[in-house]
Amino acid sequence: MSTTILEMDNVTIRFGGLTAVDSVNLNIQEGTIRALIGPNGAGKSTIFNLITGIYPPTSGEIRFLGQKINGLKPHLITEMGIARTFQNIRLFGDMTVLENVMIGQHCRTKANFIGAILRSPGVKAEEKSIVEASLNALEVMELGHKKDELAKNLPYGEQRRLEIARALATNPKLILLDEPAAGMNPQEKQTLMSMINKIKSMDLTIFLVEHDMKFVMSLSDRIAVLDYGKKIASGTPAEIKKNPAVIAAYLGK
Ligand code: ADP
Ligand code: MG
Repeated sequence: MSTTILEMDNVTIRFGGLTAVDSVNLNIQEGTIRALIGPNGAGKSTIFNLITGIYPPTSGEIRFLGQKINGLKPHLITEMGIARTFQNIRLFGDMTVLENVMIGQHCRTKANFIGAILRSPGVKAEEKSIVEASLNALEVMELGHKKDELAKNLPYGEQRRLEIARALATNPKLILLDEPAAGMNPQEKQTLMSMINKIKSMDLTIFLVEHDMKFVMSLSDRIAVLDYGKKIASGTPAEIKKNPAVIAAYLGK
């Protein structure tokens, strides 16, 4: 039997007069790839911001493995097992590839200031596990051999993979990818697609926002469609392709 990893229950957020996300209900099953598609401004990134605690919803509830998470601080949500990437690249260009991954794990650092100064055995063990997790994540994204290069010197497609490595290193159960293939060439997209499938096979659940329809249709188990903040459809790729409301939302613009 499948387990529901994430549930959104009537989730709404208003920014002043704008209802960016409007009474959205959504369930994601563990171990699947779920996509969220819709025109620009539909509210896709805002849904990621709600799940990761950047904004509290105006109303509604979000549950992760049955536990209510809305209202929790972002770092607590990361610790519980939700990681994300952002629509625009957020790397430190003058830091190395490995450092860029390690920096994503500050949530795991429990060492206090004194502990850090004394470099107690506990702190050293913690540092070691952060390095190990970071190297593992880089291996998954096939960037291990580039760990000492500066992030700014990687080709664009590898920079985007580096961001996924950073999210993976926090040891998530659910990973949110906001337009991971944007700006990639077909070869880079193909590589990314096989890596996302590899992540799925590692028992992770993936929630994906992406505009490239071929990419979305071939990767996803289920797709939800958002338009003006409202969920207008949900189903398998085959169902979504022939859904009249979806066709209207896309062709109407
Ligand atoms: P998408 O990712 O689907 O392109 P977004 O979620 O980024 O869309 O945005 C949905 C709508 O919410 C847009 O109209 C956007 O301008 C608005 N919005 C997003 N964040 C904020 C904010 N912090 N303050 C005001 N409006 C916002
Ligand atoms: Mg967006």
